[in-house]
Amino acid sequence: MKKMELHWQILIGMFLGILFGFAMTQISWGRDFVSDWVQPLGTIFVKLLKLIAIPLILASLIKGISDLKDISKFRNIGIRTIVIYVCTTIVAITIGLILVNIMRPGDGISQDTIDRLTTAYANDSGVTSKIAEATKQKEAGPLSFLENMVPDNAFKSMSDNKLMLQVIFFTIFMGISMLLIGEKKAKPLKKFFDALNDVVLKMVDLIMLTAPVAVFALLASVVVSSSDPDLLLALLKYAGVVVLGLFLMIVFYIIVVSTYAKINPFWFLKEISPAQLLAFSTSSSAATLPVTMERVEEHIGVDKEVSSFVLPVGATINMDGTSLYQGVAAVFIAQALDFDLGLGAQLIIVLTALLASIGSAAVPGAGMVMLVIVLESVGFPADKLAIGLALIFAVDRPLDMCRTIINVTGDATVATIVAKSVGKLGKPHVENWDDHLDEVK
Ligand code: ASP
Repeated sequence: MKKMELHWQILIGMFLGILFGFAMTQISWGRDFVSDWVQPLGTIFVKLLKLIAIPLILASLIKGISDLKDISKFRNIGIRTIVIYVCTTIVAITIGLILVNIMRPGDGISQDTIDRLTTAYANDSGVTSKIAEATKQKEAGPLSFLENMVPDNAFKSMSDNKLMLQVIFFTIFMGISMLLIGEKKAKPLKKFFDALNDVVLKMVDLIMLTAPVAVFALLASVVVSSSDPDLLLALLKYAGVVVLGLFLMIVFYIIVVSTYAKINPFWFLKEISPAQLLAFSTSSSAATLPVTMERVEEHIGVDKEVSSFVLPVGATINMDGTSLYQGVAAVFIAQALDFDLGLGAQLIIVLTALLASIGSAAVPGAGMVMLVIVLESVGFPADKLAIGLALIFAVDRPLDMCRTIINVTGDATVATIVAKSVGKLGKPHVENWDDHLDEVK
């Protein structure tokens, strides 16, 4: 019997998870049951994915760079990647700003709704902690981004997933030095990292076997912890604008992939769909990274020389979905609270949302922290920040899930485009989890 494709298995898991979550909200002990007995399955899955992220970046980036044989190629890939990332992010913010200015979702929010949302969330720890974190980030100097990228202890960086950029820095440094000592001397190290890379990709295959059950658990927990449906309804128009913008970004990627890379965009979307579904279920591009890398390399055919750099860097600095959301959310809050935002202020939003998308961590809810900085950049009164965030907090988690899909799809699209532009887009070569099972037996 032909096995059901992975993305269908995951979709069924998600669907059943949502149904199960709703059913549990109807039972008095349902919420506790889900958080005690179901949620841990999802949490373990996310931990497993995060567990292999750093070894995967290390092994695959070293393999990618040491395969290059020529450093100028790396510079070429690096420059293209950063330029394309900046361009796609600007497209995303522009789409968001155009939509929110045309559809004006903030105008329809009544004072009563504002009051209800403020009472419900303005003092919520979720909101206050985001403001506190934003203040901390804002206090950092202008070059702190670069400063933070350089580690002073490689092992310390490797022991903290938040320090992914430091690991990337160290790995590139090491990879380039390996090129410089010559192929013969570097051979043992290269062989080691090649094998490590294969092993970690196999671990991704094995972890993905549990994905359908894990997404069931993740979605059931999201449903039982979601806000009052009434409040969600009041924010429907705002959420609709964000989702429409995100959808237009998918259309944009499809156009780019089909016209430039000349590949069937629907095939492209189908092949990366497990990564998109995980992005949705986990709300974290960092947790999804191992799967994105596996899909883009094995299923799309992007050479490791490109994907090993473009994807980990993208997971940390390229967040098209997040920046689109920040543009829409900032203007929505301004509209609802009658804070005037002229063209100049909106251009500032483009710039700060671009920087914010680079600075946002690839974890759930990070986009909202940076939204505080975006709001402050246009002079939004500090005493109204909590009210502003309270307005959008109720729908933040579902929107986070949606924008993370776009963040991951954007990375995969850019990896494909860069690969095509340097002649590194080849044939897919899928490895299944049980390819060598007979030898083991
Ligand atoms: N959750 C997003 C990500 O990991 C970041 C955000 O928008 O909050 O890509």
